[in-house]
Amino acid sequence: MYKKIAWKEYTPEVLEQLESFSADYRRFLDLGKTERECVLQAVTTAEKAGFRDMDALIGSGARLQPGDRVYRNWMGKCFMAFIVGKKPMERGMNILGAHIDSPRLDIKQNPVFEDQGLAYLDTHYYGGIKKYQWLALPLAIHGVVVKKNGEKVNVVIGEDPADPVFCITDLLPHLASEQMSKTAAKLVEGEALNLLAASRPTESEKEPVRDRLLAALKERCGLEEEDLVSAEIEVVPAGQAREMGLDRSMILGYGHDDRVCAYPSLRALADFDGVPEYTLCAVLTDKEEIGSVGATGMESLYFENTVSELLAMAEEYSGLRLRRVLQNSRMLSSDVSAGFDPAFAGVFDKNNAAFLGMGVCFNKYTGSRGKGGSSDANAEYVASIRRIMDDNGVFFQTAELGKVDAGGGGTIAYLCARYGMNVIDCGVPVLSMHAPWETVSKADVYEAYKCYRAFLKDAGE
Ligand code: MN
Ligand code: MN
Repeated sequence: MYKKIAWKEYTPEVLEQLESFSADYRRFLDLGKTERECVLQAVTTAEKAGFRDMDALIGSGARLQPGDRVYRNWMGKCFMAFIVGKKPMERGMNILGAHIDSPRLDIKQNPVFEDQGLAYLDTHYYGGIKKYQWLALPLAIHGVVVKKNGEKVNVVIGEDPADPVFCITDLLPHLASEQMSKTAAKLVEGEALNLLAASRPTESEKEPVRDRLLAALKERCGLEEEDLVSAEIEVVPAGQAREMGLDRSMILGYGHDDRVCAYPSLRALADFDGVPEYTLCAVLTDKEEIGSVGATGMESLYFENTVSELLAMAEEYSGLRLRRVLQNSRMLSSDVSAGFDPAFAGVFDKNNAAFLGMGVCFNKYTGSRGKGGSSDANAEYVASIRRIMDDNGVFFQTAELGKVDAGGGGTIAYLCARYGMNVIDCGVPVLSMHAPWETVSKADVYEAYKCYRAFLKDAGE
């Protein structure tokens, strides 16, 4: 099934399943515009599929048996789920990994200001964005505010059609002669990404519009200005993911990177039937877009700690045994690939590019400047993956991230490879990656799901 156009081979029955899966995925995107919202959905999906909360079991003396299903919500921003296998955990787990944070603008801690009768919320961008793409389009805010007493207020404004939206304004072309001569990187400065949020003054003499904005915030969310100090509010494109193209073959959505791998990973595990040979795992992580750092990034030990807890409940914990569990595991580190774009053909090597509609994409390595920073999967492991894909009729392709020296990038693969486990990057090709609205092919989303199911079922020593 290597490098074929998946669409040409689908039967009407398969097309029906594909459409149903892609509708589920669009719902996941609409309800999951932040890592926290994705975790909440993952918990719901897992509980419906019979997974129990590990945190309720840890320290209770509970023992896990083969076939038992548990999940862990880590700080509300990462999600892990496991199905205990028949074989000892030392034989390694089959792990699916993906990230659920996406490029965006974050509201600053002291964001509210007024300038010439307009009131704004100041932002600090998160991840690799082209800043000019965020101007003059409807934006929503999603997040949490935690009050001093610990009360958590969820904020979503701009998604309901009856809601107001926000916008960062751009300069009219008539007055843009100097702006247009700047490089795209300097077209708008990071500090100028201010969300226009109010324009109608109150009666107050000093900063009357700022006051209006704060009064509205209080009325809508019950929040004081100083509560924003302990908030995590993200600015994202407002509106739903849409079917794209007259043939409805694609999906235009915010945050395909990397929910387009996270959702099929989650579903593949939740939809697994029966008792697996090896212990199965899906991990949805945070902070990939800023280097996987922090207590919710893959660089943190949260994953290792959680596997330790699982080992203690399913068998018996020892440091050596944990090392063996991790070292002998197999992983698909899923993240989006750069889809070949005819409009920008010059940055791709056509023979080693990912094409929309040709299925899930494996990247033996990523990196930049001579594979720098990449986790280069072993040929032996790649061969075993090829076999699994072919045995299960999964359409797949292989690619590099653009032409040699055109740029590059990294994923979470190298962080899991530290344990000595076999890891390969794989994922779904995306057009306009990191733009407010990204494009994927429904066929590739469906093939990713098939790929993850096949890997969970058939990967092994
Ligand atoms: Mn990514
Ligand atoms: Mn990314």
